Amino acid sequence: MGGARGYSLVSGGLDSRLAVCVLRDAGAHVEGICFETPFFGAEKAREAARQLGIKLHVIDFTADEIALLKNPTHGFGGAMNPCIDCHATMIMRAGEMMLENGFDFVATGEVLNQRPMSQNKQSLGVVEKTSGLKGRLVRPLSAKLLEPTIPELEGKLDREKLLDLHGRTRDGQIALAANYGLKDYPSPAGGCRLTEQGFSKRLKDLMDHEGLDDLRLVRLLPVGRRFRLPGGAGLILGRNAEENALLAESAIEGDILLSPPEGVAGPNALLPKGACEADAKMGGEIVLAWSRADDRFAPPSREEYVKYQIVQ
Ligand code: SF4
Repeated sequence: MGGARGYSLVSGGLDSRLAVCVLRDAGAHVEGICFETPFFGAEKAREAARQLGIKLHVIDFTADEIALLKNPTHGFGGAMNPCIDCHATMIMRAGEMMLENGFDFVATGEVLNQRPMSQNKQSLGVVEKTSGLKGRLVRPLSAKLLEPTIPELEGKLDREKLLDLHGRTRDGQIALAANYGLKDYPSPAGGCRLTEQGFSKRLKDLMDHEGLDDLRLVRLLPVGRRFRLPGGAGLILGRNAEENALLAESAIEGDILLSPPEGVAGPNALLPKGACEADAKMGGEIVLAWSRADDRFAPPSREEYVKYQIVQ
């Protein structure tokens, strides 16, 4: 018994850590896979892999995520989060690595019925089908409640050592964490900006105007106050010294970088290329309105421009 080789999706949360521990107990060689984009990073996964002592493959998932944002087959969750398709595509990418490298399975830390909508038997089945991994997707924490997978049937993965956790209570996972000596794991929620309402507003505005093909603008999404000006240009106004410096560094040929008059403290603002003259003029007024300019510069009132502001 044993000898299976698998890639386990590692988010850094407790369940994905436990999945690795259980798979190893069942005789498998396990390597981790995690994904990064401008919307979520790999830091927690790197920390988990260090703790578990496994090799971690960090995959740039930006192109996939942008394609899903443009066309999410199963739609969005509560914000701009195409979770069903995102999760299935991650598993599909892991499956491609499995085939390329002659591994036997892909695993996740999903627990049956832990989330009533996304982790019931039917949706776990949808993910398996959408990802094209039929029979090779192992959920070690709930495996005994699911159909045996191919590596289990082939005797390469000891089904007896896999678990039957289910439901929303976390007691089983917490007891297991203590057994495996896992400490300092982050809470399961958080980490993906696509689930945040404020960030989603910025993203939707960018999608509706400039689109998502300019990755520089995608990467700048968390930065600045956002205005959509009457001529259609999107203005990014720095909120602190760090953002002001970042906007100055990010400007490329054709952009308009606006700064307060010399000797006046205030923000920088970036207008991506293509802004009309009227928007550029209004951008200058906004910079002045948010600066510390005194009456000599006749700074306009902020109130006039607040109506163009999308998010702080
Ligand atoms: S929370 Fe973010 S990273 Fe996770 S499945 Fe949803 S969209 Fe993808």
